[in-house]
Amino acid sequence: MSKVIIIGAGIAGLAASVRLVLQGHDVTVFEGNDYPGGKLSAFELEGYRFDAGPSLFTMPHFVTQLFELAGEEATNYFNYQKKKIACQYFWDDGIRFTAHSDQGKFLSEIESVFGEPQAKVGRYLQRAKKKYELTHSLFLENSLHKLSTYLSSDTVKALLQFPIFQINQTLHQVNEKTFSDPHLVQLFDRFATYNGSDPYQTSGIMTLIQHLEQFYGTYIPEGGMEQITGSIYDLAVRKGVTFKFNTKVDRIKVNQKTATGVEAQGLFFEADLVVSNMDVFPTYKTLLKDLPAPEKILTQERSSSAVIFYWGIQKSFPELDLHNIFFSKEYKQEFDCIFNDQKVSKDPTIYVNITSKDVPADAPEGCENWFVMINTPADSGQDWETLVSELRKNVIEKLSRSLGVSLDSLIACEAVLTPPLIAAKTQSHLGALYGASSNDKMAAFLRHPNFSQRIKNLYFCGGSVHPGGGIPLCLLSAKIVADLITSKN
Ligand code: FAD
Repeated sequence: MSKVIIIGAGIAGLAASVRLVLQGHDVTVFEGNDYPGGKLSAFELEGYRFDAGPSLFTMPHFVTQLFELAGEEATNYFNYQKKKIACQYFWDDGIRFTAHSDQGKFLSEIESVFGEPQAKVGRYLQRAKKKYELTHSLFLENSLHKLSTYLSSDTVKALLQFPIFQINQTLHQVNEKTFSDPHLVQLFDRFATYNGSDPYQTSGIMTLIQHLEQFYGTYIPEGGMEQITGSIYDLAVRKGVTFKFNTKVDRIKVNQKTATGVEAQGLFFEADLVVSNMDVFPTYKTLLKDLPAPEKILTQERSSSAVIFYWGIQKSFPELDLHNIFFSKEYKQEFDCIFNDQKVSKDPTIYVNITSKDVPADAPEGCENWFVMINTPADSGQDWETLVSELRKNVIEKLSRSLGVSLDSLIACEAVLTPPLIAAKTQSHLGALYGASSNDKMAAFLRHPNFSQRIKNLYFCGGSVHPGGGIPLCLLSAKIVADLITSKN
């Protein structure tokens, strides 16, 4: 049994704590905030409940797997519903599209709205499925930095079918070649934003992201997104993990190139193994500041960030569902703004999430809790106050036009989240939502490994390291760390 210290109670830190305590280790989690969950949190405002961070939940089996490992029935602690409608899409020219979860309905709706033959779209979805099936064990479930991963039969199988991945085309090029209607190209390009990337730069392999939504479905936890991390936290406590909240780690102690523990609140806490769930950038630049850092990894382009308006809306909109997208007219220009100019587009794509559609108690009767998110660049010192005030005006105008209302007069209460606030709340470098961007076609190989190549007994999990950001990948990073530790012992 080893003494393990985990820095951070984000979803990956929580999942790692469960896996490691179940392996028999003595696990303590140090968390700077006074709550578990990191980017997953919630708050109430004048009778409206809001999820503060993530809103899209896919692949719930990576959560329930933790309960199964612990020999517990997940449904006793964590429940969720599958959505029949994945998303409602709106364009300024009046076109509307309902993305059904059922694949047959999805394809027939595409044919009737965009005239794209079902068989053609079906082939696109099949190819995306194949990409996922060939790569998930190599890229998502194992360390890319261990020779054994490359010697597996799965890797050989994937390499033999290399052209299928469309690595040398961008996601947009793949979509443009496949679909004739520009609305549909935009719809499938949008999936690049699920890991904070630019569809005009990220590689064609990323068609597999929409496969995760289409094939596995989208879900809503009954108790809000916070229930995902809340239930994993409760499980960790039941299994014996110790949590120290309001306890920011100041230093990882290293002796003879080996992590020996952490320093917090002026005290030294000894450990055999240290797992950092905090963003890899501050892990090196703050906690290991006297040691050389892997600069090439740390200076990679960051993923996009976001501005979020949380609005209590005094009306209900039957045409909206849990997930809604109002597309921009010029998608290329929008991403140029984010990734090249570090600005916010004047006509951004707007995502509106309304949990009260499925959980009526989340808003007063006849009202809705709107989480309105706009992708932005990560923070590089922009004047966010001015940008947010212009953005608010543009967003209200666009939504009012699309929905035929005067939205301003319906907003009963408001809170706002910006990239600097995201950074301040979770120490996420520059407020990026998903660590480094995946714009480079070699992105998967460029992320920080799940272990330190220079310091023994130091491991990494979470959205800024392999295999990447987003809830499912963070949960997989925890699995990889636990597997690496098992194979070491
Ligand atoms: P984080 O959540 O980043 O937490 C890290 C924890 O470490 C924090 O609690 C922090 O306080 C703690 N910490 C940091 N430094 C220290 C220290 N020195 N000492 C002690 N503790 C420390 N993903 C999806 O799957 N679907 C979505 O819809 C989605 N939307 C998003 C929307 C927003 C606004 C944001 C911000 C993110 C979104 N994401 C989404 C991404 C997802 O939230 C993240 O990838 C994931 O939650 C990151 O988890 P993590 O384990 O890396 O830890």
